[in-house]
Amino acid sequence: MSAANISFEFFPPKTEEGRRKLLEITAPALQALGPEFFSCTYGAGGSTRDNTFDIVEQIHGSGATIAPHLSFGGDNEAAIGELLDRYVALGVNHLVALRGDMPSGMGGRTQLVYANELVSFIRERSGDHFRIAVGAYPEIHPESLSYESDVHYLKAKFDAGADIAITQYFYNVDAYFYYLDRCLDAGIDKPIFAGVMPITNFENLARFSRNCGAEIPRWIAQRIEGFKHDPDSTRAFGIEVVTQLCQTLMDNGCPGIHFYTMNQLEPVRTIYHNLQLAPPTEANRASA
Ligand code: FAD
Repeated sequence: MSAANISFEFFPPKTEEGRRKLLEITAPALQALGPEFFSCTYGAGGSTRDNTFDIVEQIHGSGATIAPHLSFGGDNEAAIGELLDRYVALGVNHLVALRGDMPSGMGGRTQLVYANELVSFIRERSGDHFRIAVGAYPEIHPESLSYESDVHYLKAKFDAGADIAITQYFYNVDAYFYYLDRCLDAGIDKPIFAGVMPITNFENLARFSRNCGAEIPRWIAQRIEGFKHDPDSTRAFGIEVVTQLCQTLMDNGCPGIHFYTMNQLEPVRTIYHNLQLAPPTEANRASA
């Protein structure tokens, strides 16, 4: 694996200071590592539509490749179609297509559109213009009826025209490789990038993990519990665990790693350097 198989995810900052830090410090420093692409999230229900577009426009304008995340949220086909046309006009040609979740306060007022339907809509509207990524869940999406049905619906997203998948983050590497095998059994032959979440604020991570169905192994939770009043040790342990996770992924044929950066340069840059990835060449970019 080289840097050409690495991607970094951002979210649209809520403050001017956050926006400046992302655009002037974090994104340029991560771009210097030569990733395949950046991505920028889209708030539940389309709540960050304009902010996502703004960040995408700025980063695309800097010469980097960026994939906006997109979901229907509460929007209709005309609004989403118009947004797609704006991305086409800008020259953006990557997307991450998602169902999204119901934003709090909107319950019952809108019907979420499954990601496979969104992928079909994008292909109908924009042909092959976009390289489309979709979400995948090695530990299975929390609303899923069964393991098999979740793999079945991932296949439906590829059948509708997705090019790659990016997983929810996980710390159990066996779950990821088992999932790749089940996807292969189901006839999925496209790359499934591993989503990797660095460990920084453990309390937030634990809370978020409960909601999104990602499991934090007991030994990690116990070790961090022991470092409760020692942020330096927590930080060092988090880097060690996530570096080891990435190394195991790379050593066993994972096609790519997508870092959930939370808009922070560190610890992602340190983990990246620990992995000693080869700089991207034109040849490995083309095969990524
Ligand atoms: P889907 O693939 O539509 O699946 C949702 C559930 O429905 C699953 O349980 C699936 O098994 C089932 N299902 C799928 N298709 C069908 C069907 N046709 N009929 C019946 N059941 C079906 N959220 C945001 O709000 N903004 C973001 O920017 C964002 N970025 C993300 C990036 C990545 C890489 C990932 C993995 C997730 C991201 N999320 C984001 C979270 C995501 O929106 C939620 O996990 C959401 O609950 C599911 O989205 P999905 O596209 O995977 O859904």
